[in-house]
Amino acid sequence: MPPEQKVFNKIRLSRSIVGIKEAAALRRVIIKDGFLGMGQDVAYFEKELTDFIGGDIEVSCVNSGTAALHLAVMAVVKSGDEVLVPGLTFLATFQAITAAGAVAVACDIDPKTLLLDLKDAQKRLTPRTKALMLVHYSGGVGDLKAFYAFAKKHGLRIIEDAAHAFGTVYDGKRIGSCGDIICFSFDGIKNITSGEGGAVVTRDRQVAQFVKDARMLGIHKDSEKRFQGQRSWEFEVTHQGYRYHLSNLLAAIGRVQLQRFPVFCQRRRKIARRYMRLLGDCPGVELIDRDYETVVPHIFPVLIKAAKRDALRDYMLQLGIETGIHYYPSHWLDFFGGRSVSLPVLEKVYKEILSLPIHPGISSEDQTRVSVAIYNFMSENK
Ligand SMILES: *Cc1c(COP(=O)(O)O)cnc(C)c1O
Repeated sequence: MPPEQKVFNKIRLSRSIVGIKEAAALRRVIIKDGFLGMGQDVAYFEKELTDFIGGDIEVSCVNSGTAALHLAVMAVVKSGDEVLVPGLTFLATFQAITAAGAVAVACDIDPKTLLLDLKDAQKRLTPRTKALMLVHYSGGVGDLKAFYAFAKKHGLRIIEDAAHAFGTVYDGKRIGSCGDIICFSFDGIKNITSGEGGAVVTRDRQVAQFVKDARMLGIHKDSEKRFQGQRSWEFEVTHQGYRYHLSNLLAAIGRVQLQRFPVFCQRRRKIARRYMRLLGDCPGVELIDRDYETVVPHIFPVLIKAAKRDALRDYMLQLGIETGIHYYPSHWLDFFGGRSVSLPVLEKVYKEILSLPIHPGISSEDQTRVSVAIYNFMSENK
């Protein structure tokens, strides 16, 4: 049978890796505990995340990564303040900034790291700039020390969108254990999932208290009561709050996933390293330099040269291989200025970027198939 007629199983770009252990945890919460809201499982998940990340930190779980970012921005900026943010990120990063009433100031990226270009950020500083949002794109964090030095010099708070970087290590410590305010996402396909969910991690007790109150409609110190199976009937509220708390059901999934993380981490790193080897000398493919001893890759983007990206993507889809484009630039969207700024590096990268399948369930045969498809197409279409 000629290869094009062969029936292939589909290779997915990403997927949730959940099974009987997560199902058993849900069963326990539903059948045995019977308490679905924010209670003991959330308290345990926060404690276990604190131990995993390490350091003198406070972890506050919420019901999405976007909610984590929204409350983090709200904690440190006022309406009308400006937040510098690299243009290469998921829409949620931008929406979280505007949700807090702040202005998202899109900055260009470094062509090698695909992370914030500090020189470009410098040019966009104004007296209203109050915070710097970092995005740990594809798990990489770049020169964090330089970002923090820049923020210190200009009196800015830092929020790290670490949705891609759960488990990544910098300077011998896990992301979240140091730094200002760090946000994680536990959505279905992230490095660990709780079904949906997120967390704000900080050493700043005032920020932590703000987030803990704001996730429960702003009710002062309600979290502590809920963790003891109580709630506040008479209370004080001093600021806007939301229903952003995590439920026991989701926390129970997250707790199982945290135990499985070492295996997920090892698999993700192994897949990334193997792509680096298999595609290292592929014509027209540029790899992104990341150190997979320290990075835990959530996505695996490569750059496809000579305007071949879209054709390659179609070709791979015909072979049953899904790929992704992370991300469509937010500064092109009407709501965020509709191309009122130009970010030349990002706009060039956007045309070339292609995310290859990566998740702990990919077999090495699947991965070989992905690499061979790219190799064949790029060699034949030089
Ligand atoms: C997933 C993600 C978010 C949002 O997290 P949700 O849990 O989906 O709300 C934010 N930023 C980045 C870069 C992400 O990948």
